[in-house]
Amino acid sequence: MNHPVIIVGAGLSGLRAASLLTEQGIKCRVQDARDRIGGRVLSIPVPNRPDLGKFDLGPTWFWPQNETHIANLVKELNLETFEQYKEGEILIERFQIKPPERCVLKENSDEKWVRLTGGVQSLIDALAETFPSEIVELETRVKRIQLNEAGEITVEADQVDGQTKVITADAVILALPPRLVARHIEFSPSLPPNLMADIVKKPTWMAGQAKVVAVYDRPFWRELGLSGFVLSSVGPLQEIYDASPIKGSGALFGFFGMPAEAREKMGQDKILKLVADQLVKLFGSEAKNAKAILYKDWSSDSETAVEEDISPLKNYQSYGQPPVGGVWEKKIIFAGTETNSQSSGHLEGALQSAEQAVDKIINLTNKPFTTGL
Ligand SMILES: Cc1cc2nc3c(=O)[nH]c(=O)nc-3n(C[C@H](O)[C@H](O)[C@H](O)COP(=O)(O)OP(=O)(O)OC[C@H]3O[C@@H](n4cnc5c(N)ncnc54)[C@H](O)[C@@H]3O)c2cc1C
Repeated sequence: MNHPVIIVGAGLSGLRAASLLTEQGIKCRVQDARDRIGGRVLSIPVPNRPDLGKFDLGPTWFWPQNETHIANLVKELNLETFEQYKEGEILIERFQIKPPERCVLKENSDEKWVRLTGGVQSLIDALAETFPSEIVELETRVKRIQLNEAGEITVEADQVDGQTKVITADAVILALPPRLVARHIEFSPSLPPNLMADIVKKPTWMAGQAKVVAVYDRPFWRELGLSGFVLSSVGPLQEIYDASPIKGSGALFGFFGMPAEAREKMGQDKILKLVADQLVKLFGSEAKNAKAILYKDWSSDSETAVEEDISPLKNYQSYGQPPVGGVWEKKIIFAGTETNSQSSGHLEGALQSAEQAVDKIINLTNKPFTTGL
């Protein structure tokens, strides 16, 4: 095989695949539509205040007792971790007009919710260090994949300068949400109908969600005997957690109970005002002193979500590998967390799917490809 493997998507799954292929001496290129690597992983600082730390607007935790692939990778890459802060009482907010109740949470002591120092982006950055940076092409949006009679694949992508990039490949790893494949990538010949039917049914995990992080100079709620954990049936935030970095500041993050459509109608300014009011009701007047409120609505990000993802997720049954067959068998290989049946949706699923995709590529040839671009 003379041509590279093209990996579509520089999220955790695509980057892990690139790292493993490089390790095996298999030539590969990663193309991503965004101007950054990481996909749904997004850890950002407060603008002009890097001293306060980095805050996760995408994933936050992994659970090492069940998620061995991520646990091992984090160890292998020598990344620092710490446990989610859970000491103190939790707040339950049942009514709009009554104060929240304080409760002691019965802990499942075996379950560890682990965070990465510097945010989950530190995993992405460390992984990207394991292969030459030229492998990754950003702002390169794959729009067409064609297969000719000689079995050669061409991948066409739009670039930010308006040019179309065309690359010949021997195989393509699709490391992006399956619904984006169905919606945004044209295949010639067409993908089999059963495959299309399967991938449109795989909702993109968390694509309908939004996350907000309120950053303070210190985690003042801990001084009040509170863990920062809140369950609310009145909202707008339904679940709130302590998101403080190990040092530098304090932070609370929340997931919304309000559906994506309602958020869109309301608009960001009004949503953030409601969030600020809820935090004051829950944690007192000190909650007014946020240094910054960071917000990311994934449902309006077209590199993650499609229209159907905006409806709340009802079933998880369709996750796992799509049925690739016909002429596309062994030519396109699905990766990405939604294609993993064991840990679908999680970072762990993104890693497992990448490892399985790379195994398939290795099995395609006994003779490894040559390294280099
Ligand atoms: C708010 C939120 C909270 C979460 N919390 C957790 C958590 O605590 N723990 C956990 O384990 N998981 C969590 N997750 C899920 C976790 O983020 C995902 O499982 C993981 O990041 C998915 O990685 P991926 O590589 O499969 O896909 P993605 O990260 O979505 O990567 C796909 C990539 O494809 C690119 N792309 C899209 N279209 C094209 C195109 N046409 N051409 C080229 N590139 C394209 C995108 O830009 C993106 O970079 C959370 C997700 C969100 C959004």
